[in-house]
This record gives sequence, structure tokens and C-alpha cells, in this order.
Amino acid sequence: MTSATRPYGRAAAFLLLLAGSCCLPGPAPARGGEPPPNIVLIFCDDLGYGDLGFSGATGYATPNIDRIAREGVRLTDFYVSSAVCSASRAALMTGCYHERVSIRGALGPKMKVGLSHAETTLAEVLKARGYATGMAGKWHLGCLPSQLPTHHGFDEYLGLPYSNDMWPHHPEAPKDFPNLPMIEGDRVIDADVTALDQKSLTGAYSRRAVEFIRKHADRPFFFYLAHSMPHVPLFRSDAFAGRTRRGAFGDVIEEIDAGVGDILRTLEELKLDGRTLVIFTADNGPWLSYGDHAGSAGPLREGKGTSFEGGIREPFAARWPGHIPAGSTCREVAATIDLLPTLAAIAGASPPPLPIDGKDISPLLLGSPGARSPHEALFIWYGGSLQAIRSGDWKLLLPHQSQTMNGQAPGRGGIPGKYRKLPVGLELYNLKDDLGETTNIAASHPDVVARLRALGDAMQHELGDASLKIKGRAVRPADGQDGTPAAQGAPPTAGRGPETRAHAAAAP
Ligand code: MG
Repeated sequence: MTSATRPYGRAAAFLLLLAGSCCLPGPAPARGGEPPPNIVLIFCDDLGYGDLGFSGATGYATPNIDRIAREGVRLTDFYVSSAVCSASRAALMTGCYHERVSIRGALGPKMKVGLSHAETTLAEVLKARGYATGMAGKWHLGCLPSQLPTHHGFDEYLGLPYSNDMWPHHPEAPKDFPNLPMIEGDRVIDADVTALDQKSLTGAYSRRAVEFIRKHADRPFFFYLAHSMPHVPLFRSDAFAGRTRRGAFGDVIEEIDAGVGDILRTLEELKLDGRTLVIFTADNGPWLSYGDHAGSAGPLREGKGTSFEGGIREPFAARWPGHIPAGSTCREVAATIDLLPTLAAIAGASPPPLPIDGKDISPLLLGSPGARSPHEALFIWYGGSLQAIRSGDWKLLLPHQSQTMNGQAPGRGGIPGKYRKLPVGLELYNLKDDLGETTNIAASHPDVVARLRALGDAMQHELGDASLKIKGRAVRPADGQDGTPAAQGAPPTAGRGPETRAHAAAAP
């Protein structure tokens, strides 16, 4: 079969048929007598804070994603737990800081580490409540068959098991990666994803979401649409190529946005609008070394691979007509770790049995009067070390080595530039006054520094700190972490920048 005729859907259609023939009875009504809402969680890869229309993007348009914000709530201070793919996704799926579940960095194709089956994923929480659960897109929490989404609570899965640049066409390290597989369920349906195939990814994922919604319109469903884009290499279908003034990056975002439009229209057509919560956010900030193929963090400092705001703060919008006040904006601190307990609460589902870090932020989403962030502080680890603490308006950076493209030759056309090292000291910023983290005021606020350091110290002892050689007392192992030779062997070394270094750090 040629690449052009690979539909990413024929095997899928058969499996869907099987799945659809054994539907479970729907769950009992949630609180208030209403059935639990459907949930569509759209999660982009390497999307910056400034990359959407509602967050200031120029040169292209995102009317459908903007509609989610306009008809719902926008959270302006929404964080991931680390500015890199696997770690960020582990937090999203488990409601835990990634350090608690021992998933760091970006897992490589040859690694045998994955999310532990002892953890309870968001999909498992909702599945236990009677939801139909489906996923399309990038998983990146383990690529062995037993580690794929269908073994973590998803009824069905179509997508790439890890990043779309982990393939033999990597611009800098082509020999380090095997062929990139496309997965349906836990089986490879295409052993060698080509450039032509990558052009079809965004459309295929969006179509899968629409198909899933149609198939499960009569029962609560959860669909996790984890786009591979706009992570490099950027690909878009011919219909979107050359549409925008922002080049390939703008085209890619417009194709993602078109898929969001298809989803919203499908919900309207099926009269599921008021029964469906749609969330849009992303895993980490823009990969700035890729220059014109990278997104923008807007007013925030730096991007992916750093614990400055540009790496860890993401655009967030949620729409649920009749429940979330339209056009609302919430400036309280929240994070991806909160989505599992929040969605569990909204669905009337049982929380995971093991301790998690996230909190129920449904009062923030639903616009409850006086709702405040449930977090005294949020903690940001990278490469196993605690690097940042956000508490109220304050942000404390702990001393570490970071990176910047400032003063460097930018990447172009899919070939990255080179970061230079950026030493970070003990730095305190008031984000209300200084969103761009320009002026370190640690020296003039020793009391704030001491308070945040004490909070950080407690978390370092709970979840560990590699640079301080602290083993966290509450850390739980990843799958394949203990006693698996491959998990202890040399990881792949392809790529450049933070993601490469992070490959080596999947297991403490
Ligand atoms: Mg990413």
C-alpha cells in the first residue's frame, strides 16, 4: 500500500465496530440528577502561550479555538508540571506531579519505561464511571504494547506512540531513531510513517474524534485528542499549505483549529452542546530553537525546556454551555494535575486510590463566586530537579542551568539553531507586576524567598531532587523501571537541547 492510500482507518473501523457492539449501559445520573457530561480534551504539543487568536497570535486565525474561550472560560495562569512532553503528559493523565510517578523528560523509542499500571489514569477514572473512552494522537507514556493507551483505560487508540520527530528523518540525528510506527489499539498498522503520512496526521486525529463522538452520542464519552502538532517536524495537509502569513506554523495551527470546528459543529448537530465539556490546552511551551517553525510564548519569557513562564504556562480554554459562564476569565493558579480530580468530581467518578497532587478546580471553571486557587503553591521540576515554585503572584526560581536563544542564530525551515546555556540563580519575580520575569527582586523580599524555599524543601523531600541527591519518600516507580535491563541501559541520544538530556532521565 502506498503512503497516499493509507487511510489510518480501515483496521480502525473494524475495531470500532467490535467496540461498538458491546456497549455498556450508561452510568447513573451524576450530582443534581443530570447525566455526567461528555468530555473532549484537546491537547496540543509544544504550543506556546501566545499561539492562539485569543492569546494574541497574528498571521493566522483560530476562530474555533477562540470560540471555546469566548463561549466558556479562559484560565490565564494554567501550568504544566514540566516543560517537556512525557513528564507533562504523565501529570495530565495521573493528576500527579510527574516526579511522583517517575516519568521524566521525553521517553525515547528504545526505552522500556512507561507509566505504571498501578497508577489510575484519567481514562480509567471515567471508564469506571461508565464512560466510553477514546484517544487519538501522541501518547508518549511508554511505547511497549502493554504500555499503550488501551492498557491505561482507553477503549480505543489511534496515533503515534511518541514524538513525531523521533524518526529516521530527524534533522540532526537521523541514525538514532527507528522507523516511526502508527498504532491502532496496541498494534502497529503502519510500520514506517512517511512525510506524506505526517501530512495526514492532524486531519486523521480530528476525524477520529468526530467519529467517536457520533458513535457514542447516546452515552457519556471521554475523548482525548492529543495532536502531534505543532511539534516539529511541521506537516499539514495540502488543503492548508500556504494559507497563512505565518508559514508552515500558521498553516498547522489553522488545520488544528479546523478540526476543533468540526468537533464543535458535530456536538451542535447531535444536540450534545450543553452536555459536553470541551477543554483546549497543551503540554509545554514553544521549542524556540526551531525559529520560524516554533510557536510563541507571547509576553512570557523563554519556552520549552525551561522553567520560565514560557516553558510551563499554557493557553487554556474550557466550554460547557449552561454550566461555564460564557466569556469568563479566571486568573487563579491551576494546572494539568488538576484536570483528573476536577473531571472526576464533575462526572461523579471515584478519585484514584493512591495519593495525587491535583485539586478539584471545578469552582474556577464553573465561575463560582469567590472561587480561589486550591494551591498554596505549584512546583515545577525539570530533569529531576525542582526548578520553580509559583505561589500567588510570586514565582521563585531555584539555582539551575537553563538555556536561551537570545543572541543566537535562529533555526529556519525545520533545522534548529543552537541554544546557549543560561545560568539561573535564586530569582524571585512578582508576576503580577513583571509577567516577563525581567527583574529579580529576591534581595528585597527575603521573607517571600524563605517561605517559598520552605515549601520547596518540603516537596523536595517528598518527591525528590536529583541535583541535591534527595530521594523522595513518596515517589512511586514507573513501569519497567525496576529490574528491566533496557530501562537501565543507555537511552537514545538523538535530538538536541533539553529533550535530549531529558531522555536519560526517565528513571531516577
Ligand atoms: Mg511537547
